[in-house]
Amino acid sequence: MPQRIRLFLWVLFRNKLMTNVERCRRHFGHSSTCPVCNTNDESILHVLRDCVVASAVWHRLAPSSLSPEFYTTNLQLWVINNLSSRVVHPEGGMPWPTLFISTLWQLWKNRNDWVFNTIMLPIAAICSRAITWARYYSGVEQHAPPIASLHNHAWDRGIEILQVQSDCKEAIQMLTSPLANVNSSSLVRAIAKLCNRGWSVDLIWIARSSNQAADALVRRADVSAFDTIALHSPPEFLRSLLCHDISNFSFDLV
Ligand SMILES: [Zn+2]
Repeated sequence: MPQRIRLFLWVLFRNKLMTNVERCRRHFGHSSTCPVCNTNDESILHVLRDCVVASAVWHRLAPSSLSPEFYTTNLQLWVINNLSSRVVHPEGGMPWPTLFISTLWQLWKNRNDWVFNTIMLPIAAICSRAITWARYYSGVEQHAPPIASLHNHAWDRGIEILQVQSDCKEAIQMLTSPLANVNSSSLVRAIAKLCNRGWSVDLIWIARSSNQAADALVRRADVSAFDTIALHSPPEFLRSLLCHDISNFSFDLV
């Protein structure tokens, strides 16, 4: 494991990971609430196991041969039990402890990307990254996976002119900044690298009210679904929203 992941594991095992509960305890923050679900206190176990995103990821990745106590033990036991497990992951072919740590790391990174950059990866992308990196850590795969190639459906489909719309102004500004390729977030750097490939990519801010079709799709999305779904023609429920969006058109090229 890379040193920073060992350090992360040590800090979390000591119950010192800087969640909102810990920030409140140290008087750095006023709210201990989880920024993802806005429902529970953001303890370490909440971020890494019990919150809606973490829980969906573990239901996808945790082998059925693991003990049902996986979802109920306290933090220290949870870490010890999983690190001493002899289970080999059926899909990834790597020891469960490696995938367990890799998943913890991806969940923590994802939480921070949400808090600091308002970027939230789909469940499938978190799972896929955790597996890919665990393969690399465990030596099943010799070369580090290039993050930018993991989920690049548009490129894989041979699209040459791509328009990406988002209602998050900060995300668009960050991605279109000349400094995007040296941004502190690996996700931003990876996207900047993708944009610089041999194709034309426009990143556009669009008001959510002008893109009700996308908003409706997001609200209907099943958080436990893991595959990318490509829609080649609009489903019935989207037709009236698409008509609305055509006549309520407002976007900026940043
Ligand atoms: Zn939560």
